[in-house]
Amino acid sequence: MTSTSVIMKDMEKRNLILRWVIALIVLGSLGFSGVVLYYLDPNKSSLYPFCVFHQLTGLYCPGCGCLRALHDLVHGDVGGAFRMNSLLIVSLPLMGYLVYQCHILPPERRKQINEVMSARAVWIIFWVILAFWILRNIPYYPLTLLAPH
Ligand SMILES: [Zn+2]
Repeated sequence: MTSTSVIMKDMEKRNLILRWVIALIVLGSLGFSGVVLYYLDPNKSSLYPFCVFHQLTGLYCPGCGCLRALHDLVHGDVGGAFRMNSLLIVSLPLMGYLVYQCHILPPERRKQINEVMSARAVWIIFWVILAFWILRNIPYYPLTLLAPH
């Protein structure tokens, strides 16, 4: 075995350990966030950040209701989560797919974000978010259903 192949094997081992450490940190952070969201209700706790856009304008941004939606989701209330931020709930499978393709797959099978999503798909997502932002602030039924309620 040459010294180069020994060095390469050592680097692969370090990369594997680093990947496991990163995975544990991410899973630990997600678990901790889930526990916090489970026990601290965003409707009642002042520990959560407030939406600056909503405070300044009285209008809802595309992210308004996300924490309450996630709180409902960790309690198994998918309907409640959907009422708080339907775009977040609808986009969770896509986000999971992207995380899986770009971060969870082994490095040799992992893809870059531009391999998974075309520029056109990114533009479509942008326009969907913008439309959601505008539509959830129009005070006429059924668009009022898009606002957190
Ligand atoms: Zn907001």
